[in-house]
Amino acid sequence: MVIFVAKENGDRRVAVTPEAAKKYVDSGGSVVIESGAGEEAGYSDSSYEAAGAVVSTEKGVAGADIVISINPLDEKMVKQLSKGTIVISTQEPHANPNNIKLFLKHGITTFALEFIPRTTRAQYMDILSSQACLAGYKAVIEAAHYFDRGLPLLITSAGTIPAAKILVVGAGVAGLQAIATARRLGAIVSAFDVRADAKEQVESLGAKFVDVNSSEATNGVYATEMSEVYKRAQEDKLREVLPGQDIVITTAQIPGKKAPIVIKSDMVKLMKHGSIIIDLASKTGGNCECTVQGQITDINGVKVMAFDNILNLIAADASRLFSKNVSAFLDLLLQEMKNCNSDIAAISNDIIKETLLTYDGVPVSSRLQMSE
Ligand code: NAD
Repeated sequence: MVIFVAKENGDRRVAVTPEAAKKYVDSGGSVVIESGAGEEAGYSDSSYEAAGAVVSTEKGVAGADIVISINPLDEKMVKQLSKGTIVISTQEPHANPNNIKLFLKHGITTFALEFIPRTTRAQYMDILSSQACLAGYKAVIEAAHYFDRGLPLLITSAGTIPAAKILVVGAGVAGLQAIATARRLGAIVSAFDVRADAKEQVESLGAKFVDVNSSEATNGVYATEMSEVYKRAQEDKLREVLPGQDIVITTAQIPGKKAPIVIKSDMVKLMKHGSIIIDLASKTGGNCECTVQGQITDINGVKVMAFDNILNLIAADASRLFSKNVSAFLDLLLQEMKNCNSDIAAISNDIIKETLLTYDGVPVSSRLQMSE
C-alpha cells in the first residue's frame, strides 16, 4: 500500500505528520511525500525520512494506492490518478465539479472528510471539529494581539485596568473554544446562539448567555435559517450589547448555506474606537457585512478582520490533529475493506458510507446526486 502526500496549495498545513507516517510505515505501508510538504507546518523532509517515508521531488501521484490531502486535489493531479486509487481529503464537490467528473471518468474512489458524521463514534475522525476548535482558540489569540489593551483585569500601583469584554456569536465548536480561551485570558465573556442547547454550554464555561427576546430557537443539533422576526429581535439585542464590547468573534454558520449576516455595516459603527471583530465565517460569506475575506478593514477605528485561513497561523497543531483524524479514518476503512474483500460499495459502516463520494465510476453519495 503506497500512500502519497502532496504539498498543499496555499495552505501551510500538511495532511500527514512524520508521527503518522511512521505509524503507516510500521504497519507495512509505504509513504511517499512531496519534498517540502511539511516545511511550513514545522515538519522537515528529514523528519519524514527519519520516520521511514520517501521524500519525492515530484508530485508523483501516479502509482499511489491512497492519496491523502487536506484540500481538494488540483485538477492536474487528479488527471494523473489511475483506476482504483483512493483519495481521502475534503472534496467540496459543489466547488469542484470538474474533479468529480474526472473521478467518475477514471474510476477513482473518493472520500470527503467534511461529510464525516458528527456522532460520538466518529468524533476522533471529525476534521471539522478538530480544525474549528483550533480556529476558535487562535481567533482569541489574534484578537488579543491586535487589541491595544490587555484582556484581564489588572490592578497596578498606577491604577486599575478593567477586563476586556468579548462577545462570541455562535457557540458551536469554534465558539465554545473561543469562549474558553477568552475566559482563561481573563476577559468578561458573553455569547449567543440560535440553538437552545447552547445556553447551558455557554454558561458551563463561565460566560453569560445573551438572550434574544424571542421564543423562536432551534432545538436540533444544527442551526437553521431563522425567521425575519427572529433576525430583527437578534439585531435589536446586538445593537444594545455591541457598544459595550471590545472584541467580537463571530462563528455563526448554517450547514450547507451561506453564513448569516448578524452584524450589519451600521452596527459596526456602534462599537468603540479600537475594538475588533474577527469573522471566522468569512469563507462562507461572513457574519459581518463589512467583512472582506483575507483582509483587515478599518471602519471608523473598528478593525474587522477575516483571515484567509486562520489555521495557517497554527499550522503545526492543525496538521497534527488533521493527521490523527485521517489516520483513525484510514484504520477504519482498511478494516472494513478487509471484512468486505475490498468491495468498498458493500461496506455498511455509516462513517464510510456517509463519506464515500465516488466508486468505480459511480456517484455513490446522495449529496453528489443533489449537486448534479
Ligand atoms: P457550525 O460551524 O455549523 O455553526 C457554528 C454555530 O453558529 C452553531 O452553534 C450554530 O447554531 C450557530 N449559528 C447559526 N446561525 C446563527 C445565528 N444567526 N446567530 C447565532 N448563532 C448562529 O457549528 P459546529 O461547530 O459545526 O457545531 C454544530 C453542532 O454540531 C453543534 O450542536 C455541536 O455541538 C454539534 N457537534 C457534535 C459533534 C459530535 O457529537 N461528535 C461534533 C461536532 C459538533
